[in-house]
Amino acid sequence: MASVWLRKGALPGTLLVGILVSLIPSAQEVFRQDPALFPMLLGGGAILYQTLRTTLESPRVGAGWLVVLALLGSAMTGEYLAGAIVAFMMLGGELLEEMALERTRDSIRQLLRRTPTTATVQRDGMWIEVPVETVRKGERVLVREGEQVPIDGQIISGRAAVNESALTGEPLPGDKEVGDTVYTGTLNESGTIEVLAEKVGAETTWSHILRVVHQAQSRKGATQRVADRFAVWFTPTILLFGGGVWIATGEIERFMTVLVVACPCALVLATPTAVVAAVGNAARRGALIKGGDTLEAAGRVDAICLDKTGTLTKGELDVLAVRPLTSLPEEEVLRLAATAEIRSTHPVARAVVTAYYRRLADSFGMKPLSSVEHVENMLGIGVCASTEEGKIWVGNRRLLTELADDNEEIKRLLDEEEALGRIVLLVAQEEKVVGALVIADAARESASTSLSALCGLGVRRILLLTGDHERGAHLIAERLGIAEVRARLLPHEKAEVVAALQREGYTVAMVGDGVNDAPALAQADVGIAMGAIGSDVAIETAGIALMGDNLTLLPEVLALGKRTLKVIRQNIWVFAVSMNLVGIGLASVGVLHPIGAAVVHNISSLLVVGNSARILSFRRPSA
Ligand code: ADP
Ligand code: MG
Repeated sequence: MASVWLRKGALPGTLLVGILVSLIPSAQEVFRQDPALFPMLLGGGAILYQTLRTTLESPRVGAGWLVVLALLGSAMTGEYLAGAIVAFMMLGGELLEEMALERTRDSIRQLLRRTPTTATVQRDGMWIEVPVETVRKGERVLVREGEQVPIDGQIISGRAAVNESALTGEPLPGDKEVGDTVYTGTLNESGTIEVLAEKVGAETTWSHILRVVHQAQSRKGATQRVADRFAVWFTPTILLFGGGVWIATGEIERFMTVLVVACPCALVLATPTAVVAAVGNAARRGALIKGGDTLEAAGRVDAICLDKTGTLTKGELDVLAVRPLTSLPEEEVLRLAATAEIRSTHPVARAVVTAYYRRLADSFGMKPLSSVEHVENMLGIGVCASTEEGKIWVGNRRLLTELADDNEEIKRLLDEEEALGRIVLLVAQEEKVVGALVIADAARESASTSLSALCGLGVRRILLLTGDHERGAHLIAERLGIAEVRARLLPHEKAEVVAALQREGYTVAMVGDGVNDAPALAQADVGIAMGAIGSDVAIETAGIALMGDNLTLLPEVLALGKRTLKVIRQNIWVFAVSMNLVGIGLASVGVLHPIGAAVVHNISSLLVVGNSARILSFRRPSA
């Protein structure tokens, strides 16, 4: 790293030496002409080269030409020393800026460094260490204590305490055992595990994250687009204005001073530096922000819609009880339900399948799942699976009208359990309800404090959206202090609620888990996906992905968006535009000279970079 700075510092360093030499009184006689000519030509040449290159890359009149013209002016008028000093300041200032920016980029690069470079795999019956790029899907990978997991995959033997903080920001390690998935970049703190490689290289969750962080810089928000448009007509305007000053006063030096001081570097830096710092800050804490556009929208959010199951309530639900409604035993009801739900990603489906496997491990009497030919998703109701044992339905109350099988006993069960805020899934075989599963649906512990923090962040409306029944929804809403509830919504109806809020003028954030709420996530100004660590779809589609499975990052992310917007505005109006206008004013009346102009110019750029860097360590002040 140090050698890079040495190389980059060589040019400004040489210029400085040249300038100092030319200040020695006797130098004039030795060189037989103004010795400042050399550093001026060198610096001017370097700036001309840089400007030519950027202009060739994106053809438009860039700000660099202002400086080139100013240097040309100083050469023509014989002001070599002034020209050399201006060139030195411009190049030296750029170097300082870059060093400051490096701090920001470093925080993102630190993420990269967490990826392991080697893996221990089993080949020809032996464990050997190989470069991680050569690991193939289906290979067995050994992860010892203290090592990082090099691929995404399932544990096939052993158990370990795995720290996922690199991905989720969650500081405590979690126990992982056979059947659990571990992810690239996480750390095995104790124990030894064998992992079957499922995703390698660019497919891993980790690679997704890195791609997103890199692309974040190129996705521009509204403020940045305005600044870009501004920069296009800015340069010609300044040229005309400076020319006007020259003609009016007859002083070419004032013209040159205007060009130097007006150079809009600070303006160009104002937004991207802030966005990069914010994305880096969020990534370290387990929140992926897709780009400047999302970040700016997050700063403006004043209405939030939250999905219920899997978002406000725990991601992992529990089956409390299995209630047979015919002569079929409990075990069979659970087994049929698990057969139908095996392919579904819905939190209730996962709860059913987990409950089945637990019982399978505990008792010998449990029969295996039968094979499934086809599963039909019944939106807002549940699933219908065609199996070896005929059709199996699993779903909520609406299933009764679908099957036209209702009796008082079922209804009483539904009423009683739903009144307690539980989810009841009916299990039917051959059009007949054979039993019910009662699932606990408790609010997350962090939900209440996270939601109350939102009000302090300018959120005026909080709505709970759910495909579930009213009673469960109202119980949760009451406990969390949410005033507005919309229940029994189909996925597209959730999106319509979001759209209706937008029509009322709200900037809407939708928080969901990606199951039955993807249309709403897409419709919202900011789609926020929860528990995204295992879901590439969520990482790809949502504007913001919270890797950890909790809500505490939600207010943090909105606060970060607000702070970023504030910093961008400060950068643009205070450090770029105001300083620029004052500088142009002073230059036109002749108070500022080219060298002073170069100083003012650099100070404004450095202030912008420094101001943005503050976002790196931003934390939401706890009220
Ligand atoms: P939420 O909006 O609260 O997250 P969803 O819209 O995802 O809820 O689901 C609403 C209801 O639909 C669930 O409470 C459940 O009763 C039923 N349901 C959805 N998917 C399934 C499934 N795979 N199996 C059984 N029931 C389901
Ligand atoms: Mg949901």
